[in-house]
Amino acid sequence: MILSNIDMATILIVLVLGHLLTGVFIVAYTWKQNRSKSVNIFLISKLLQLTAWIMIGLRGVIPNMVLVAAGNSVLFTGTAMELTALMILKNFYTEKVKRYYNFMFVFFIIIFVFVTAYGFPENIRIAVSSLISGILMVFPVYKLFADDKASGLQKVISVFYSLIMIFSLFRVIAALTTELDMNLASKNIYNTWLFLIIYIVMLTGSTGFILLDKEKQDVELLKAASLDGLTNILNRKTFILRSKEVISLCVRKQENISFLLIDIDDFKKVNDEYGHFIGDVVLQNFANIIKKQLRDYDLFGRYGGEEFAILLPGTDGKNAEEVAERLRSTIENSHVYTDIKIKYTISIGFLSILPDEGTDIDMLYKLCDKALYLAKSQGKNCSRRAEIPSFREDNTEELK
Ligand code: GH3
Ligand code: MG
Ligand code: MG
Repeated sequence: MILSNIDMATILIVLVLGHLLTGVFIVAYTWKQNRSKSVNIFLISKLLQLTAWIMIGLRGVIPNMVLVAAGNSVLFTGTAMELTALMILKNFYTEKVKRYYNFMFVFFIIIFVFVTAYGFPENIRIAVSSLISGILMVFPVYKLFADDKASGLQKVISVFYSLIMIFSLFRVIAALTTELDMNLASKNIYNTWLFLIIYIVMLTGSTGFILLDKEKQDVELLKAASLDGLTNILNRKTFILRSKEVISLCVRKQENISFLLIDIDDFKKVNDEYGHFIGDVVLQNFANIIKKQLRDYDLFGRYGGEEFAILLPGTDGKNAEEVAERLRSTIENSHVYTDIKIKYTISIGFLSILPDEGTDIDMLYKLCDKALYLAKSQGKNCSRRAEIPSFREDNTEELK
């Protein structure tokens, strides 16, 4: 079979080159960037694995147990660091994990050096080293896979890593139960598969890591672009964009939709009396309180300054009024703790309609803005329902 023709030298060259080129690619990819901790650790892990494979390759040349112990220890360290880089990237590397993982790692290295130094038979040594490489992967791979926020990419990567875990176990069993010479230099089906799997994992690890890093950066960028920096709720642009999807869903389901426009009362006075910084704290406090009052699928955004919008799908006029009143009274009955206790109120313009193809958020905004103006002129700290003209072609123009 062609697989039995795979030879050790070729595989070693491929692994050495593979790790070397991965390092070069990552350095190039992160050139002139502030390299993150996870990328740095990943780079070191590649350097260590490169060194380990060179050492393992030199074994026949310099036959010596120290080289075996050192080569394998460097390989374990490289593997553990590669997985640590992944855990840091995905925020699994808490202080507790760090403590356990590092302890386990040191413990294994000591065991391996002991097994090598005391001249245990080669097959025992191989069983121990396979077991160690497998066990080092269990926790990170499990976390990658079980993460409920895992992307498809993350799942695929964890599956590839689990291949080597499963295979390591086979190798342990084979080393302990068969007469085969499992030394890396000898040809047998376990070694052939081991090399193939190590090669696949090398590719997965390298490409996967860069893609995961990119995926994380994309998520962060998207978040930064769609959220308001101060209050962490949707910014106006994203609110409008998302509202289009929500409205068309309601059109399809023939459901009512409600829109609330909220403005903090006399906010200028808050700024004038307590300063702009406290004004910011009030805005954050307001956003946090309101967020807690809404359902996951409601939209809540900062329209600008101290003006906020809420879109409630599947909510009719009666409910809209109840929500508006509930929000208003919740704010009225709350206060912001800074050095002093600050109280503030809000005014709300709201409406509820059965949307159709022609319903757009701008129109809802303009109608609610009028109602909000009414609320302000009638004493503030109250909510007013917007007058809805019948939406026909002849009067939508005047709304614009
Ligand atoms: P009204 O009850 O009629 O709404 O009065 P108001 O004082 O709330 O309204 P006005 O529009 O006169 O003032 C709004 C103030 O909000 C003015 C502006 O400086 C302040 N503001 C806008 N954005 C921010 C912000 O991000 N942080 C702070 N601290 N203040 C802001
Ligand atoms: Mg205001
Ligand atoms: Mg305002």
